[in-house]
Amino acid sequence: MRKKIVAGNWKMNNTLQEGVKLAQDVNAILAKEAPKCTVILGTPFIHLADVVRNVDNKLVKVSAENCADKEKGAYTGEVSAAMVKSTGAEYVILGHSERRAYYGETDEILKNKVDLALANGLQVIFCIGEVLEQREANQQNEVVKAQVENALFHLSAEQFSQIVLAYEPVWAIGTGKTATSAQAEEIHAYIRSVVAAKYGNQVADDTTILYGGSCKASNAPELFAQPDVDGGLIGGASLKAEDFHGIIAAFK
Ligand code: PEP
Repeated sequence: MRKKIVAGNWKMNNTLQEGVKLAQDVNAILAKEAPKCTVILGTPFIHLADVVRNVDNKLVKVSAENCADKEKGAYTGEVSAAMVKSTGAEYVILGHSERRAYYGETDEILKNKVDLALANGLQVIFCIGEVLEQREANQQNEVVKAQVENALFHLSAEQFSQIVLAYEPVWAIGTGKTATSAQAEEIHAYIRSVVAAKYGNQVADDTTILYGGSCKASNAPELFAQPDVDGGLIGGASLKAEDFHGIIAAFK
């Protein structure tokens, strides 16, 4: 059975103190009523170690939002996968559309990041998704297929089992525009078929595929009820504990 996951992506928000408080608040809510899914907080690097110390690992897992494409050395300002792992974080988000668009992260760079993350014992939340013009040209399937193939399909089946996919249509991120549950299901099922063609049905069945893009408490139940939608990657609505919990509670 594949994992159901609700993962927050704080992006470049929250001071250290604000982030620790938010993590404590999420943890306190979940301590009262255990979540029916895996809950992950994706935080900036500076928060990782403190957030790990301030949550119950059985209730909340911690993720970085990025890691370097180099192992170690003279790369001023970068943070390696080994450094992320040393904080106690268990996951890293890679390939987010903001990293692709603003920091020039290509499939080749992402492939290196994925390899380093896995080599250092991190699980990867790997983001894929088309921009608006591609959706309007009905190219979304070929876009996500290429993103998955180019950055992930060199992995063995065993390595691939450490990957969570997050389908995030770029036109829905932070825009208030959500894919309909039918649109989400259609492309999630397609992504699973791409995984099945490469790794077989069992691996595809076991792969968690999250939806991301203006997901909130009001639309999460319908999105997560789709057979191929296994939870969400949440940006804006992960910045308040109650909002984030409203999404987690979609899994009853
Ligand atoms: C994201 O950036 O991963 C995301 C899904 O953002 P939002 O929920 O704010 O659209």
